[in-house]
Amino acid sequence: MSRKYLIAGNWKMNKTATETVDLIKEINSTVGSQTNVQVCVCPPFTSLAKASELVDQSEVLLGAQNMCAQPSGAYTGEISAEMLRDLYVSFVILGHSERRQFYGETNESVNKKVLAAVENNLKPIYCIGETLEEREAGQTLDIVRSQVREGLENFPANAIDSLVVAYEPVWAIGTGKTATDEMAQEVHADIRKVLVEMFGDSAASTVRILYGGSMKPENAAGLLSQPDVDGGLIGGASLTSRAFSGIVEAALAG
Ligand code: PEP
Repeated sequence: MSRKYLIAGNWKMNKTATETVDLIKEINSTVGSQTNVQVCVCPPFTSLAKASELVDQSEVLLGAQNMCAQPSGAYTGEISAEMLRDLYVSFVILGHSERRQFYGETNESVNKKVLAAVENNLKPIYCIGETLEEREAGQTLDIVRSQVREGLENFPANAIDSLVVAYEPVWAIGTGKTATDEMAQEVHADIRKVLVEMFGDSAASTVRILYGGSMKPENAAGLLSQPDVDGGLIGGASLTSRAFSGIVEAALAG
């Protein structure tokens, strides 16, 4: 099964709507017209409306960084799947380690968001990964397996090709430390094994598993050359078009 690479930029809490215009215009002009690698930008909510108009002029897709599991109502400060769809958002990052760490999200609460996203035709980018303590204690695969099982419980098999999983070792996020190519492949292959157990061989072979954690143009080619690494979720290096496009180019060459 050949899976198209997905390179997704997680801008986190960076870029005003005005700054968003400049960055997306640059990305549009560097890698926005190619179709061999899927490219997605995930700016803050406040930039989505502007971003939506700009990505309409290119092949770049739009993602959000979070979403409420509820469809509407008295949830002050929250954003629903329908609101994202209305802005032509395609992907939504869910369960990022910063949301787990600072906002109390758990496999169980993120599962509700994943199911709400897919019901509304949004493609979830479901984030998982171990902390440094967990890795040092030899618990990486156990942690990641339970994140997959619990976070993807009841995921509808007929929508499996919309699922994206992002393996992001917490110790590699924003730290400049990257998993080696072999470390990433070991965990990605194990994630796919769990997906096979949950959904069957052929469904699991359609799921893209992204690596995230200090990916940059210099290390992207090695990581992307691994058989179960189907793209990247990029934080810091997604904030300049030069670095982000460099990673897309590594994927195009891979
Ligand atoms: C992220 O937060 O999803 C991420 C991978 O960040 P960075 O690339 O900065 O490590």
